[in-house]
Amino acid sequence: MIKTKFNYDYYLRKNTLPHIWCPGCGDGIILKALLRAIHKCGYSKDEVVITSGIGCASRLPGYVDFNTIHTTHGRALTFAIGIKMYKPKLKVITISGDGDALAIGGNHFIHAARRNIDMTLIVFNNYTYGMTGGQYSPTQPLDSFATTTPFGSIEPPFDVCNLAQAAGATWVGRSTSYHAVQLEKFMVDALTHTGFSVLDVITNCHISYGRRNKMKSPVEMIKYQKEKAIPARSAENMSPEELTGRFKTGVLFETKDNPEFCSEYHKKLELLKTK
Ligand code: SF4
Repeated sequence: MIKTKFNYDYYLRKNTLPHIWCPGCGDGIILKALLRAIHKCGYSKDEVVITSGIGCASRLPGYVDFNTIHTTHGRALTFAIGIKMYKPKLKVITISGDGDALAIGGNHFIHAARRNIDMTLIVFNNYTYGMTGGQYSPTQPLDSFATTTPFGSIEPPFDVCNLAQAAGATWVGRSTSYHAVQLEKFMVDALTHTGFSVLDVITNCHISYGRRNKMKSPVEMIKYQKEKAIPARSAENMSPEELTGRFKTGVLFETKDNPEFCSEYHKKLELLKTK
């Protein structure tokens, strides 16, 4: 447990800075919220493991001074599961972009949720493959534009939270990089939940998504997040028409009733030893 005063510098690997993110990218806001949340939870650097796949968001573990591993595209959860199985006491966090988590890693996403393994997945959801030039991703809104959907997307997007809940995640929430204070609070909730927690963070890639969708500056994208986010409680009284084009924020689902994978696995091992 760490009890010192919070200081970003303490958690950063200064020798890996400056970061590669574009000025105004939302990734830095999420990184800072994560550091504040980890500090608030009182975890020591040695207790925390952060895994990531490939993409802009996935560069995050390189900048922070925990046990970190930058893995292959879409496979960050599989590395995380292996680590958690071997050392269940560690606090394991996976950072993933929307393409990494839900396209290339979609299979691993649903199975990690199904197992309810005690770890946290944070999805940096900017609707695009920012690093490779703005190809459409599985969360890109209908009719919006990307290099690979120059006439507008005809595919309905995944709702990260609905998918996580349906697959078995036991804590599901959403915030945005505009709502930085709420974001930190939800991160604390997700990190302290026992079971698979998924936090969907709507964030901005003004470079690869925004400029193709009339939001070429970070400010325009941040305004989009502010205007389109609707607290889940307010959404209850709104019609489907009123909710079109908007997304719910809040803790959208939570249960403590489902068995957690690591503890079930170790119980089974103990049982087998007695036979
Ligand atoms: S390309 Fe987009 S997601 Fe990547 S660093 Fe730049 S703004 Fe951020």
